[in-house]
This record gives sequence, C-alpha cells and structure tokens, in this order.
Amino acid sequence: MDASDYITTHAEQFKEQLKDLLRIPSVSTLPAHKADVQRAADWLVEDMRRIGFRTAEAIPTAGHPIVYGEWMGAGAGAPTLLVYGHYDVQPAEMADGWLTEPFQPVERDGRIYARGAIDSKSNVMAQLKAAEAMLATGGAPVNLKLLFEGEEESNSENLSAFVAANRERLKADVVVICDGSMADREQPDMYYGLRGVVSMELEVFGPKQDLHSGHFGGTVHNPIQALAEIITRLHHPDGSVSVPGFYDDVEPLSDEERAELAKALPWIESEWRDVAAAPAQWGEPAYNLHERIGARPTLEINGIAGGFAAEGFKTVLPGRALAKISCRLVPHQTSHKIYERVRAYVMQIAPPTVRVEMRLVSIGEPLLIDRHSASVQAALRAYETVWGKRPNFTRAGGSIPVAVDLQRELGAPLVLLAFGYKGCGAHGPNEHVYLDMWYRGMATMIAFCREIAG
Ligand SMILES: [Zn+2]
Repeated sequence: MDASDYITTHAEQFKEQLKDLLRIPSVSTLPAHKADVQRAADWLVEDMRRIGFRTAEAIPTAGHPIVYGEWMGAGAGAPTLLVYGHYDVQPAEMADGWLTEPFQPVERDGRIYARGAIDSKSNVMAQLKAAEAMLATGGAPVNLKLLFEGEEESNSENLSAFVAANRERLKADVVVICDGSMADREQPDMYYGLRGVVSMELEVFGPKQDLHSGHFGGTVHNPIQALAEIITRLHHPDGSVSVPGFYDDVEPLSDEERAELAKALPWIESEWRDVAAAPAQWGEPAYNLHERIGARPTLEINGIAGGFAAEGFKTVLPGRALAKISCRLVPHQTSHKIYERVRAYVMQIAPPTVRVEMRLVSIGEPLLIDRHSASVQAALRAYETVWGKRPNFTRAGGSIPVAVDLQRELGAPLVLLAFGYKGCGAHGPNEHVYLDMWYRGMATMIAFCREIAG
C-alpha cells in the first residue's frame, strides 16, 4: 500500500479525528478558553507521537502553546520541510447565525460544519494525516518539521520571538504555510504575493474646545472640514494615491506576470460582484481588478470621528477630528518609509488654521515569492498530479504576517498551499470544509513531498 491508498483506506477514521479536534473550542482570543487551547495542543501532540513524531511537544509561551514535532527519518541527505499551520479558532456562538452548534461538528452534503473547519484545523489535519500516511507506508521522502501555532487568530503575539529564538531547530530547505483558500472548487490557486499594511492616525485640532457654532462659526476653521480637505487630497481623481513618492519602490508588473494574473481575473471579478456589489468599480484605470487588489498599493480611510453624529442635533463647532488611515503595501515598499511619506505630505498640505498630528499605529511588510523557484514549481506539479489542473497564480490583497516572519527569520524559500474553498465561511457562521477537497489536500501534500525529494 502506498501513502495515497492509505488515505483512501483511512478516510473514515481521519474524518472522525478531524471532528474530535473540531469539538475542542480552542478560541485563542477569549481567556475563558485557555484550557481548551491547551487541550487542542495536547490532542495534536498525542496524535503526532502516535504516528511517529517522537519529539512532538506543546511548548508553552507567554500566551498559548506552540505545537512542534520533528520526523527526521528521511536522513541527512534528504531535504527538510517546515510546515506551518494554526489550531486556534475565532469565537463562535449560535446567535451569530449558526444552524448547528459551532463546536458540535455536523456532516451535511459532503461537508463538515464547525468553527475551525476551514480556518484552519482542516489544514493542520491535512498536514498531519499526510504525514501519517507517508510514515505508515515506508516513511516520507523528506524530513518533516511541523509547527502549529495557537495564537494566529489573536495576533501571533509569541510566534516571531519563538522562531527567532529557534532558528537552528526550525532550519529547513522549504517552508510551507498551509492556510488560505481557492476561488473555485476545481481550479486550485497558488498565492505568491501578499500585501503589507501600515496603519496610522491623523488628528486635526482646531479651537481649544467644542464651540457654539452661532457664536464662533465663520471665524474658526472647522477641524472636520479641515480633515476632509486633507483627506480628499490623498488621491488623484483617477483613484491613484497622490502622496509624493508613494509608488517609488513599487516593482512594475511584467507582461508575463500580467498574463498569469489575468487567468484568475474572472473569479476575482465575480467575487467583487457578489461581495463588494458597489454601484461601479473604482480605482487606477491602468490596472484590472486583480492587479489593483493584489499588485498595487492603496491608501484607505478606515474611519472618521468628530463632532456630534448621534441621534438628535447639536449645533457644535467641534474642537478636533480624527481619521484612521491604512496603506496596503506591495513589494518593495516598506512600512516606515510609506508612513513617513504620508506624514510629510499631510503636514505639507495641512492648512495653517489647524494643528495636525500623525501617529504610526502598526506595521506589516509585503511578501513576494519567486514563482520560478524550485519549490513553487514542485507545488505546481503536485497540484497538477492531484487536481488535474495547473494552479492559477494569485496575488492576495491581504496579509499573512507569519509568512513575513518565517521568511525573514529562516531565509528558506516559502510556499503557500491552500486546499479549501473561499466560500466556506471562515470567521463567519456555518463555517465548513468540503471533505473531497480535504482529502485532495492530503494527497497534494504527499505529492509535494515526492516532488521536493526529486
Ligand atoms: Zn482566521
């Protein structure tokens, strides 16, 4: 029996194990679930030990444990894979609109419904069961290091320090991040770009306190108006960002890359129609929707506060106004440089009738994976073997901070693998996973290990 047959003969057993893990409400952000997160970690350690990871352990951190185990049975001559996943989940309650209890997994129409089904316990279990299948049928062709985090849904507070302190131990030839999803159930996607994000606050101060608009209106520059005047100057009429130097470090798209991105465009357009459903598209006209979302930087006003906006009316002339602003970044932009450029421009255009303050809130750098690297090519072939289709290359508009941390600290080539479907309700009610895609995910991982071993 080979590893793929092992998946087939153990399909039912694997499914029951996934359900067992899904029953543990490992909600990392709620202190009341601290023991449950530990319980999920212990469950994984026990399973890892059972299938042959002798060194598996739940390593305590200041927050929730990191589960780590090694199987080095392929020998010193074989490549080593470090696989990252996370076993913590978002909170979930029936009141959010669940049809069945979020921590009582239910099977319906070839899917399992439960919190964590797609994000990301099915991914963790696909890795673990792929490892089991290989180890039970003569061993894996590569050495395996499995790293499962328990704090991904609550900011990964302790992961980057752990990775930095354990560089030698985690050393690998290829780093695999297994999270995320594909836009079509039959057509895999291969993510190779993630945007960074830098967030900031812009506060405008006018009079020393709120004033009577009848007594002072017409003599004081209203801070909300001044704020609006500033933020309307942050974009050109065509939707591009007008901050000088904003695009200086952006790597231009080659024709070849644009052709690749165009393949996934129909899915991105249909998602835009379904989910955004705004009256019309907006943004840089020289770039299509996929390019604007994944390959171009943006500046977004996330919120505005000031004055009186509650029920009723108050003829106030407010003393201050605040805007929260964030920029999504693409290679090779850097958070601090972009923040400084936005700040300098805001200060330059701020009218002398108000005082303006800018504050940096958080940073996160973008990531670009070389599509032509040996490990990405190996992943393409693995998908092709199992799904019968070459994945579309995709650049995500969002960020996976851990990917940037792992690449920076370990310096090994990175591959992002996704086996789930986008419409599976991650973070929402009735989250689920398609079982056929889950089993295919395991098979893809096995094929990937074979490809990496050469
Ligand atoms: Zn999540």
